[in-house]
This record gives sequence, structure tokens and C-alpha cells, in this order.
Amino acid sequence: MTLDFSKAEFIRSAGRAEDFLRDGLPQFVFAGRSNVGKSSVINRLVNRKNLAYVGASPGKTTQVNYFLIDRRAYLVDLPGYGYAKVSQAERDRWAKLMETYFQQEAGRITAGVLIVDIRHKPTANDLTMHGWFRQTGCPEIVVANKLDKLKKSQIEPAFQLIRETLELAEADILIPFSAEKGTGREDLIRALLSHCGA
Ligand code: GDP
Repeated sequence: MTLDFSKAEFIRSAGRAEDFLRDGLPQFVFAGRSNVGKSSVINRLVNRKNLAYVGASPGKTTQVNYFLIDRRAYLVDLPGYGYAKVSQAERDRWAKLMETYFQQEAGRITAGVLIVDIRHKPTANDLTMHGWFRQTGCPEIVVANKLDKLKKSQIEPAFQLIRETLELAEADILIPFSAEKGTGREDLIRALLSHCGA
């Protein structure tokens, strides 16, 4: 079985636990700090220009967005974090929603996808999100986005820094990715499918 990621449709934005989807389909959960390119990675994955912005209209920034993939799995887009201009109230809302999400949905996460910027050491917020994924016990895939912004000679040291900071083991998956160029798309799809029996 495979999944056609280009068959994707927006299902709903959930701002409270009652709206989380619990129908038993596999769920691939995407997280990353604001501006890391999470929307771009998702759009690249589904081969669409702006699917991941559907749920991100004003006032809906602190929502969990669900996209149905090929009618057989969900891509779950967690709200981005670490954006400097966000108010304390919005930050608190984010923290509360994430706490609820990870408390209640942990068992439903088929695989977590943590998107980091390949040019930078993962931030404290990245480490927090990484810790939450680890706590759930779900498989985690780390995507190092914006690969196209590095020179060849910079790639290996960048990888090392990410691996060290996130304390990744040899077997943990770290995928170099460029949402801009499309690099890594097939690797990410393969990694996702390997975790859902699809
Ligand atoms: P989000 O806030 O994490 O959803 O980030 P966006 O997807 O909105 O991307 C933030 C900015 O980074 C935009 O200007 C994108 O065009 C840019 N961007 C995203 N991915 C890449 C990439 O792989 N390479 C480059 N060069 N730019 C990227």
C-alpha cells in the first residue's frame, strides 16, 4: 500500500480537545518554529502551492490543522512556535493547546516530524517539542529544511550540530530537505510510510 500525498484536502482546524480527530486513521504530526518553512515543507509534500495556509487565516494561528491524505491518513499541522511578535496571551494559548494535545493525542501519533532550520543550532523551543515527541514514544523524523541555503562544505557540520543538539542516535532519521527545491521529498515520504504500514 502507498499513499498519494498529492491527494490532500483540508479537513478542519482544532482549537480545543473536542475537535481533535480520533477516527483511527494514521496521523503524521508536523511541528516547527515559525518561519522554519513548515508550511512550505507541507505544501511541497502534497505538491500544492498553498494548502498549508488554508487553516492559517488570522485568528486561527493557535490551531491544530488536519489534512486528509489520499483518504487514508492525516497530516496534522501543529501551530508554529517561537515567533517573537506573538503576545503573551497567544503564547499561553499555544502552550495550553500543546499540553492538551500531547496529553490526549500521544497514542494517536503515527510519526512526529520535527522541522528545523539546517543553518542553525536547534532552539530551546525545538528541544521542548523534540522532548514532547520523545515522551509520546512515537517514531520521530527530523527534517532539516532550507538545505539550498548552505554551501556543500557547510552541510556535514550543520548535520553534526543538529544531531548533537537533539541527541539523535545513529538510527534516528534526519532528512536534509529543501522545500524550495524539492530535495528530500521522496525520503520524507518513504520515512512516513515506513511507520504506518501503508
Ligand atoms: P512557516 O512559518 O514555518 O510555515 O514557514 P513558511 O513556509 O511560511 O516559510 C518561511 C519563509 O522561508 C518563506 O519566505 C519561505 O519562502 C522560506 N522557505 C521555506 N522553505 C525554504 C527552503 O527550503 N529554502 C529557502 N531558501 N527558503 C525557504
